[in-house]
This record gives sequence, structure tokens and C-alpha cells, in this order.
Amino acid sequence: MTEIGTLRNAGKDTLRDVLTRLEKEGAGLGHFNVSDQVLLKAVIAAAAETTFPVLIGASEGERDFFGARQLATLVKTEREESDLPLFLNADHTHSLAKALEAANAGFDAVTIDFSALPFEENVAHTKEAVQAIKAVNPAILAEGEIGDIGTGSEIKETAQGGRRLSTPEEARQFVEATGIDNLAPAVGNMHGMLKSMVQGKAKKHLDLERIVQIKQAAGVFLTLHGGSGTDDEHFRKAIAAGINIIHINTELRVAWRESLDKSLARDSNEVVPYKILRPVVDSVKQVVASRLRLFHGQAVSPEAVGTVA
Ligand SMILES: [Zn+2]
Repeated sequence: MTEIGTLRNAGKDTLRDVLTRLEKEGAGLGHFNVSDQVLLKAVIAAAAETTFPVLIGASEGERDFFGARQLATLVKTEREESDLPLFLNADHTHSLAKALEAANAGFDAVTIDFSALPFEENVAHTKEAVQAIKAVNPAILAEGEIGDIGTGSEIKETAQGGRRLSTPEEARQFVEATGIDNLAPAVGNMHGMLKSMVQGKAKKHLDLERIVQIKQAAGVFLTLHGGSGTDDEHFRKAIAAGINIIHINTELRVAWRESLDKSLARDSNEVVPYKILRPVVDSVKQVVASRLRLFHGQAVSPEAVGTVA
């Protein structure tokens, strides 16, 4: 397989440079998942509007639908044409083969996720994947995961209780044993959103003290998965406590679905895809832009986030 290198802007910052700079500025890097070109266009439009860097994410399922190389090529083209600081992450990668596929396609980062396995097996598989993707390109950032934050960026009826949060000691051991560049711990975050969160009646709350302790013990960049529906103030405090990357997926999916329903309902005789899809791009863009502003410490109007209905 040919190595085509990561997608960094020619002569511009790498993903590591951006994370280091944002940490100094007290800002967080927004990670937004895309399944298709409508979502991709929305994320890029938000990056263009706010001029903030974005990390575009695609899980294995999203990559299977989009095509890993196709997505990497589109992002590369956008980056070259727009000069925007766009980066690409292979989100939730559960096998060595898929990690290598993303590395060879030119992704800037890989979220290696063996967190469903017992700790020692998680360590062994993550370490192997870190070494493999660094052999393709040492500049690729490798993320590892510990703890349980549930699966699926979907709307859920009820929260599953009894999830174990990550401890500072296991964070330290995991980072040391695997050589990862950033760690995704379980600190009260959760994949997906409850119905009450979609309606704006409830918010996720994070264990901020635990984030401080894990940051100190791990000494690497920290990623918050499952950010959708989190209280704004908790986002601000989590960034101050040491979170560097924040994943938002379900909020985008909810905005996509609701605006698509609305757009289709507007005129049952409309069959022109770009006329139907343009308002969808705009709705998702607004969610992304307001999250980016929040992560960069800017004031956000209350109706702009959380309640995407
Ligand atoms: Zn995630």
C-alpha cells in the first residue's frame, strides 16, 4: 500500500500543533462526525464561518458508508482549496486492519477502541495498533480508550446505570503501557442522547474533579467522547480541567433528521436533491458553529445549542 502522508496543510500546523496551541489558549478542539457529504459540507461551512480548526470524525460504520479513502480525499481537496485547518480522525476503530486502513488513507488521527475488552487485553491490542499506525506515519495521533461510556450516537429512552468511571491510576498505567498520544476516559460522559436531552429538558454532567486528576496522572491530551447534550458550563469547565478534544455526533444527527423532515415536508413535489438538502446543511452547520464558539470561550445564545428541535 502506498503511503500518502497525513492531510496537514502544506506549511501549516499539524494536528499536534493545533492541540498544543488550543490548550495554551484554554480552548477545546471540536470533533464532529460525518456519514455523508451533507454532514461534511456542514462541518466545513462551520469551520469557514468561525475560522476555528475542526476535527472531522468518522467511525467504522460511517467510514464503511462514506468510504475511508473517499472521505480522506474529499477532506484533502477541501483543505487545499480552502486553506482551512481541517483534520480527520478515524473514530472508534476496533481492529488493527481498520486502523491501518485509515492510516494508509491519510487520516491525521485514529481512535483505537478496545475498551470493551478487559484492561490487560485493551493495553495489548492498543499498543499493537499504536505501533502499526506510527510505522505508516509517525505524525498520526493515536488515541486510546478506557472505561465504559456506552455505544451508539443515537436517541435513547433511558440511561443505562452502573457504568464504571476511569481512575487516574489506570489512566497513568494505560498511557505508559500503550504509548498513546491522547486518552479518552469515562468521566460521566455517554454516547448518544436521552429523549429528555433532545427536548432540552435534561443535560449531561461531568465529573470535573476526576478530569483534573486523570489529566495530571496521564499527562497527555484528553478526549471527551459522547459530548452531545452536555451542559454548556460543564463543557467550559471540562476544557479548563484538561479536556482537549470534544466529540459531538448525536446533536448533528438530530439536526440532520429534523431539518430533512422539515425540508421534505415543505413541498411534496420537490425532487431536486440540492434544493432539499441545502437547508439541512445549514441547520447542521449552525449546531457545529455554536458548539465551536462555546469550545473557544465565546458567548453562545441559549437557543443555539442543546435544543436542536
Ligand atoms: Zn465516541
